[in-house]
Amino acid sequence: MSDRPYALVTGAGSGIGRAIAQRLAEDGFHVVVADLDVSRAEAVAGALRAQDLSAEARQVDVTDEAAVTALVAALPPLRALVNNAGFFRDKPIATTTAEDFRRAYEVNTIAPFLLARAALARMESGARIVNIASRAYLGALNQVDYVASKGGVVSLTRALAMEVIRRGILVNAVAPGLIDTPLLQQMTPERIAAQLALQPTGRAGRPEDVANAVSFLVSPRTDFITGQVLFVDGGKSLGGTAV
Ligand code: NAD
Repeated sequence: MSDRPYALVTGAGSGIGRAIAQRLAEDGFHVVVADLDVSRAEAVAGALRAQDLSAEARQVDVTDEAAVTALVAALPPLRALVNNAGFFRDKPIATTTAEDFRRAYEVNTIAPFLLARAALARMESGARIVNIASRAYLGALNQVDYVASKGGVVSLTRALAMEVIRRGILVNAVAPGLIDTPLLQQMTPERIAAQLALQPTGRAGRPEDVANAVSFLVSPRTDFITGQVLFVDGGKSLGGTAV
């Protein structure tokens, strides 16, 4: 048991979640590195401890309601919950099944609700929740299930923020644009090239760019920002072209 404030980061075994775990550990949190893939979670937590930072690994499937409830109940009240676990794949609507759509909602939208509900049962004033949405919630090609599920994350964030505001708990979302992670590498090279061509910066962001935004939103120095979506997208959401 650590005497540092606890931060639970889901999907922290890879990509953006890993960078968030690193940054929050550097900020002084004890980070619970939660992931479906326990070997990834252990590698991240081990790397943090090797830097004299405070972390532990936990295996969890965020879609498993009983497992999520048990995980959160076994920890001290969380100071910060970061709902980061998520996935997408490119599929046109013609081949997207109802099961695809349900799965996107299970992981990307319902899981953050389950984790928030479990955490909020014991969170104290000053606690923070950050949900990782996506710039794609504004619209993206061939991702109807993902886009809809991330739109749900934004609405969930706003509704939750309203519900807990009088408890002194803040809830915000971060909407990353194209970020260089293993998830991105699943795209075809043609699709990655097309995406990069659409970036005003001409490049993808780094996981650390998202982690810095999360660090800000969970910091005790912010006390009057809630229900907001912070875009970390190199200007992509501005809608114009830089050339
Ligand atoms: P990633 O695939 O590198 O990492 C996701 C992690 O989540 C993996 O370690 C995976 O094991 C874990 N995970 C998946 N399903 C899980 C489950 N059911 N239970 C527990 N853990 C689970 O992905 P990433 O690129 O780092 O994405 C992280 C978040 O950022 C996601 O919510 C994603 O939608 C969002 N996002 C990513 C990008 C991008 O360009 N990479 C852009 C916008 C939003």
